[in-house]
Amino acid sequence: MDVPSVFRILKVGIGPSSSHTMGPFFAARDFRGLVAAHGFTGGRLRVILLGSLAATGRGHLTDAAVAAGLSGHEFDRAATSLPEVLAAVRAAGEIGIAGHRFAFQPDEDIVFDGSDRDLPHPNTLRFALLSNDGRVLLAEEYRSLGGGAVAGGTFGEGADWKKGQFTMSQVLAACREEGTDLVGFVRENERRLGVGSEEVAARLAALWTAMVDSISRGVSTRGVLPGRLHLARRAPGMYEALQERTGAQHVLSREMDYASTYAIAVAEENAAGGRVVTAPTCGAAGVLPAALRTLQETIGVPDERIHDALLVAGLIGLAVATNASIAGAEVGCQGEVGTASAMAAAAACCLLGGDPEAQVDRAAETALEHYLGLTCDPVYGLVQIPCIERNAAAAVAALHAASLALLCRGEDRITFDTAVAALAETGRDMDRKYKETARGGIASLFEREAGDRQGTESG
Ligand code: SF4
Repeated sequence: MDVPSVFRILKVGIGPSSSHTMGPFFAARDFRGLVAAHGFTGGRLRVILLGSLAATGRGHLTDAAVAAGLSGHEFDRAATSLPEVLAAVRAAGEIGIAGHRFAFQPDEDIVFDGSDRDLPHPNTLRFALLSNDGRVLLAEEYRSLGGGAVAGGTFGEGADWKKGQFTMSQVLAACREEGTDLVGFVRENERRLGVGSEEVAARLAALWTAMVDSISRGVSTRGVLPGRLHLARRAPGMYEALQERTGAQHVLSREMDYASTYAIAVAEENAAGGRVVTAPTCGAAGVLPAALRTLQETIGVPDERIHDALLVAGLIGLAVATNASIAGAEVGCQGEVGTASAMAAAAACCLLGGDPEAQVDRAAETALEHYLGLTCDPVYGLVQIPCIERNAAAAVAALHAASLALLCRGEDRITFDTAVAALAETGRDMDRKYKETARGGIASLFEREAGDRQGTESG
């Protein structure tokens, strides 16, 4: 059994997508470093986005992320937004690397190539440095694996998820043998991986602060989200309405209403290109903070207990990443929002005192089971419809799954490992158009209807 660090799953990131924004940004930064390391002094930079990156890259700001990475920006957008970086690079028509100028016009040098079906990964991107007469001086291929992880370049294959590294059954058996719980197991594993307890505490505190901040910004920032949908942000209005509600006016429960509002707040922040925590991805970033913040406000637990719950959530995310996939382009939204719901359910169940084997595993399994087969079909390739509401539904489902598991005693017939295996198999069988291409489901029907409406209006 070889359990990776939970901090490979839980990371501060920038929306709207960990696989289509963060991953390409890191790949571009890496290629920039290679150009500098080889001592090149000029030429033209070229980027080819393939597969799902070609299909939904514009909506996911992949072009802007690549321009920002090649330009050497830090992945912290507090000062400058990705669209602003893209506009600046467009205006300059070049990029400076190690004191030299390299021609780069994003509209010509970022190629969205949806033709290649035989790819090493659905999120593949190729970088090249060309001489003035078009010869290839340097070329590198990268794969954006989901959750911001990248393979290729100086990342090598080491950044790839190694499949079958561990199962939850093995973890639960180890907990039994060692007389520890899931939190103790993950803490010991981090220590074994060289992350000391102070470092773990600092990282968890930073992650939880970033999660709470993303909720706070989401419930207080009004306006319209970027992109062709011109979608107005809903979270501030929902939050105000919630605070005015009296008990009888809550349709489900006060807690469920807050969980929905917080999840939408974070998902809207993500859609706006804001700072969120990948859990396991940016597209699904609202689920875990919404569930945990709602519980914290309801039962009044200190941050330290939330930090413990984050460790359990990370473990569940790792189990999916290493035994199936957390990339929508590989397995559809079941791998993103489905995994997020399982992570949040396990975290909530742990926070509420659930037994690891009989209840936490069951909570994660219950949450994931009902998302199996969930397609990824974002309208116009934006992480907005259906993604934002999906975060709310999954946060409520997570709390429901945790509650259900705590009510149940006795053995669950389906383990979390079985649900993860079903996710992997279903993802393999799913038609490509349902895996982050914006060519199936709600995305294609919406576009068809929008085209019909336009035809009717102009006719
Ligand atoms: S549908 Fe799901 S997987 Fe696809 S972009 Fe939206 S949140 Fe991500």
